[in-house]
Amino acid sequence: ATPMSVMVGVGKAAEYGALIRQGDALQTAGKLDLVILDKTGTITEGHPTVTRLYSVDGDDHRLLALAAGLEQHSEHPLAEAILAKAREEGVRPDTISGFEAHNGKGVEGQFDGEPLRLGNRRWLESRGIDLGALADSADTVASEAGTPLFLALGTRALGVIGVADAIKPDSKDAIRRLHDAGIRVMMVTGDVEATARAIAAKAGIDDYRAEVLPEDKAEVVSEMRGKGYTVAMVGDGINDAPALAAADVGFAIGTGTDVAIESAGITLMRGSLHGVPDAIEISRATVKNIH
Ligand code: ADP
Ligand code: MG
Repeated sequence: ATPMSVMVGVGKAAEYGALIRQGDALQTAGKLDLVILDKTGTITEGHPTVTRLYSVDGDDHRLLALAAGLEQHSEHPLAEAILAKAREEGVRPDTISGFEAHNGKGVEGQFDGEPLRLGNRRWLESRGIDLGALADSADTVASEAGTPLFLALGTRALGVIGVADAIKPDSKDAIRRLHDAGIRVMMVTGDVEATARAIAAKAGIDDYRAEVLPEDKAEVVSEMRGKGYTVAMVGDGINDAPALAAADVGFAIGTGTDVAIESAGITLMRGSLHGVPDAIEISRATVKNIH
């Protein structure tokens, strides 16, 4: 496109809340044939809440106090959910030492001379913790589109906390617009299979990958580019930055982290996924104008 028509397109996109940060992003947007969406904070609101508590010994407040003790040191959206629930229930977080966050897996610290861990099933099982007794509770959480978080002290499983994040009201519509435009849509998430399936179904997506570690999201982008797709990545988190940078066009959710915004060619100021089909339509119209 000529510089003039591109400028008009950039202005038009801005009216729709899509801020073009990299010069060629708008021109490339019209050629996209695959849009990869992060789940948490991108398709969903990113403000999860605790929906269920299952403690092995029936003491839900003790479960919450330990979990909140760990999460007061974390900045993950899941942490905010657990801390809010503790406040609501008047539960004071326990004191945890030696806190460590394990990206895409969970959080860990020391309590009573033993390691205390809160996180996903695969990670806890890799530490030799038997979670079999909690499987049914976790299945219930996942079938409700929630994320089951397991808590264990030493090798003893203490319980499951279900955390759920609502889908943004217009995510499904925006995804339908992409499908209608002939674009493949895929969701990638660090969450477990059952939770991913439930959220994808609610959002109208049948193509998703679950249990993708944060550092592997960029690899999914590269893999799909290698298959010949012109790929957009849409995300909000620090975790998404490498994938945003690896995509043909990165779309950062404007309410997301600065790192994501700096790694993306386009910022969606309204937080809505409609900005993606908007940018694609404007790009197609802009490019058509000069031929
Ligand atoms: P997403 O792709 O949904 O944003 P992440 O990659 O950040 O998820 O995390 C993947 C999984 O790792 C979570 O679903 C959760 O089971 C576990 N996890 C990550 N961070 C935490 C945390 N602070 N507390 C508990 N669990 C966590
Ligand atoms: Mg996210």
